[in-house]
Formats: sequence, C-alpha cells, structure tokens
Amino acid sequence: MKKPASFLLVLGLILVSAPVRPDPEDDLAILAAAYPGAFEIDGERGLRFPGGILIPYDDGKEKDFAALLDDPDLEDMLSLPYPLGEAGMFPARNYDPGRFRPHAFFRALYGGSEEEVRARLRPVQWMPSLGGPRLLMSTRFGVDTKLEAVIAGLETLGPEYRRYLLPPGGGFNYRPIAGSRRLSAHSFGIAVDIAVGPSHYWQWEPRGAEEYRNAIPQAIVAIFEKQGFIWGGKWYHFDTMHFEYRPELILKARLSAHPVSQPGRRAR
Ligand SMILES: [Zn+2]
Repeated sequence: MKKPASFLLVLGLILVSAPVRPDPEDDLAILAAAYPGAFEIDGERGLRFPGGILIPYDDGKEKDFAALLDDPDLEDMLSLPYPLGEAGMFPARNYDPGRFRPHAFFRALYGGSEEEVRARLRPVQWMPSLGGPRLLMSTRFGVDTKLEAVIAGLETLGPEYRRYLLPPGGGFNYRPIAGSRRLSAHSFGIAVDIAVGPSHYWQWEPRGAEEYRNAIPQAIVAIFEKQGFIWGGKWYHFDTMHFEYRPELILKARLSAHPVSQPGRRAR
C-alpha cells in the first residue's frame, strides 16, 4: 500500500528540522585519518591505543558548557563544525570549535607527562629570514614539519605582515590555561602564539568575550589552516594569537564542505 503524501511530508519536515546527529563511524574514521597509526578503532566504542587504553567516543553524559570544557569525550570534541576560510560572522555564544579537548586523548597522542612530551619535541626556526627565535614543537604526526610549511607560507607575505608574526608569543609551554586547571594545547607542543601586541584575547578585554575583537589578517589564518592548524580567532572565547594543530577539525570541515555559515551574530 502506498503511503499517503501527508505522511511523507511530515517525515520530510522531521528530517529537515532534526538536529544534525553525530555519526560515530564517520567521526572515528576522521580521527584515524588525522592521526595515522596512533590507535585502532574499536567498533563504535572509541579508540584503542597501544597498551590497551580505550578513549571512549561517547561517555553518555549530558554536559553544560563548563563540563564540555572540563570533561569532553571525542563526540563533544567534534561536535562544533570548525568554519574554514573567511568567517563573515562573529562566533555565537560559547561557539568554541576546538576548545573541547579530551585530555586523555591528547596525552595518549603526545605524551602522558611533561617529560614524555619533551622527549618528542624539536626546535623549529620561526621566520628564519627575519631572524625569528626557535620554537619547540612536537615531532608526532609531523607537527614540526607542518609548522615549517606554515612558516614557508608566511615568509611569502609582505613586510606589512611582520608586526603580526614577530616576536612570536611562543610554542611549547607546559602550563594550565590561564584561570583554569586544564592543560593548554601549548603543553603538548602543538600550539603557536603569533605576536601578542596586535592580538586580542577575551580574558584581557574589558567586556570579556562579549565584544569580539580581531586584527589578525585572513591571509595568515589561511596559511595555518592549509596545514591543519585551527585559529583561536574563530572562537566565541577568542584568542587571536593562538594556532593549534587539529587536523581532525580541519578534515571534518573539508569533508562536510561546510560553508562559512557558522552560527553567529553579525559583524558590527
Ligand atoms: Zn596560545
């Protein structure tokens, strides 16, 4: 028997209006492609690292924003699409793609202690043609060589870009995020801060994250994104000097060919 047209219409409306449900298989495959050889996919349960440690995909917990920062699972980490390219809008409240970092996952990838992370670092010359300093970066997954490719791109930019790049704010630094007990991405040797002077950080602004501010040119952002680094200037809790190697977010954005229609408020 043929289904009545009204049934199909209702079904269609449900499908259109339903929130995008994460697909564990897709997400886990993206992680495997982003971090080759680091782990095995264990069904839909999560990722199995050498030594048997399982990083669960979905811990089944309902979380508010604070809990997403403090105790995210892999599903949470990939839940907010990272907007590739030039974002025409400023981020919506608490739209922070990349700030939900499951610590056990990053420790398993880059080192479980400061000593373990340090054993895998290598100095990378920052802007060598301009006499920049050396930054310590992880050699895992070629993060160090990816940064060198970024630097080669940055060196093709004109002299008007120098003030955004020199002196850099830093690379590896085993430290908690300001005002929290969570380890920063700098602790794993996967993050770089460009020049602090022309940058904006929500914690330093009189109105905090309420008033988005940025002076970093899009040309710099595009060079980093091409090599798998995300930019903290696309977060509601903006940190415009901050770039971080997060190939899973860049890959997911490319695969979904996500337009730059990040949920957001209009530019002022
Ligand atoms: Zn930073």
